Amino acid sequence: MQQQSLYDLSFDELSQLLADMGEPKFRAQQVWEWLYQKYVPDVAAMANVPKGLREKLTTASPLAPLPIASEQISSDGFTKKVLFQLPDGQFIETVLMRYDKRRTLCISTQAGCAMGCVFCATGQMGFFRHLSVGEIVAQVLHFARELAPTGEHVTNIVMMGMGEPLHNYTNTMTAVDRLTDPTGFNLGARKITISTVGLVPAIRRYADEQRQTPLAVSLHAATDEERDKLIPVNRRWPIAEVLDACRYYVEKTGRRLTFEWALIAHENDTREQAQALGKLLHGLLCHVNLIPLNPTAGYGGQPSSRERVAAFQAELARYGVSSTVRVRRGIDIQAGCGQLRDRVVSSEQ
Ligand code: SAH
Ligand code: SF4
Repeated sequence: MQQQSLYDLSFDELSQLLADMGEPKFRAQQVWEWLYQKYVPDVAAMANVPKGLREKLTTASPLAPLPIASEQISSDGFTKKVLFQLPDGQFIETVLMRYDKRRTLCISTQAGCAMGCVFCATGQMGFFRHLSVGEIVAQVLHFARELAPTGEHVTNIVMMGMGEPLHNYTNTMTAVDRLTDPTGFNLGARKITISTVGLVPAIRRYADEQRQTPLAVSLHAATDEERDKLIPVNRRWPIAEVLDACRYYVEKTGRRLTFEWALIAHENDTREQAQALGKLLHGLLCHVNLIPLNPTAGYGGQPSSRERVAAFQAELARYGVSSTVRVRRGIDIQAGCGQLRDRVVSSEQ
């Protein structure tokens, strides 16, 4: 078990820690502001915190920037991917996308992923471990710090990096609560999109909790026969159950759902799949994002051609299902788990 960083602590936990050190009440708010409004990379920079206390804090609950293993910038200059190496050796990726005025981060919730989707680079590597709340939050603070000198801010976050957010439910939601805390980082909940492969009990829980963060469900196929081939977890929660949970979510929250669909040539981009999808989604408050597959080393599928994408979208429209085709950008740096830039842009609409 790694030592907890300051980013792992809630405000109440921080207050308790400081109270145990004999500190006055206002200290917690001071430290909180250094963390979440000034984004300091380490306790030593907390100028109005007495030196002795800074040392005690560092021992009790250290704060260290995530170590960068590598950085890549896309050829158009708008997308940057950072690979962090965690103290236990695990690697995670975070991607920053500059798009118009938006500064969107695609963040990871796990090192690796247990779901094994065949087309996904993270799925192909397997599961290593869940990320802590602090490790999820630290990815955001890293970029907030980097953007600050030019007056830029993180405006949107998508949980579409490595890992399945709803498999690491508690840490992910605690991180969301932390990032939306009005006394701290203060990002609007609607600016944070959670993407899931379709873990049915977790979707229901998410609906019951009336969470304000938008939800995207990675469907990718409209028949169990096809989805079983792409997404092994479909055998556990087949499409009918996923759709039931989706309807439940829409009823409970009144919110529109997004479905993600990576178009794979002659695999899930057929007329039959489009029709099956049209029937499934007809009448549901939702939108479909169509993204041509980004080829990965461990999977032979290819992206659908422009013509096939257009035909798929036209077929969906016949069922009254709205969809958007996303162009692939920032692909030269393989931005993240699903080379995610397009998905990121789409989630911001
Ligand atoms: N585990 C979550 C979130 C991370 S993956 C989920 O599956 O939703 C984020 C998105 O990238 C998902 O929609 C996923 O299906 C998609 N994706 C993964 N690999 C991809 C690839 N090679 N090409 C296109 N999309 C991909
Ligand atoms: Fe995991 Fe999502 Fe990749 Fe599937 S697509 S393996 S759920 S990260």
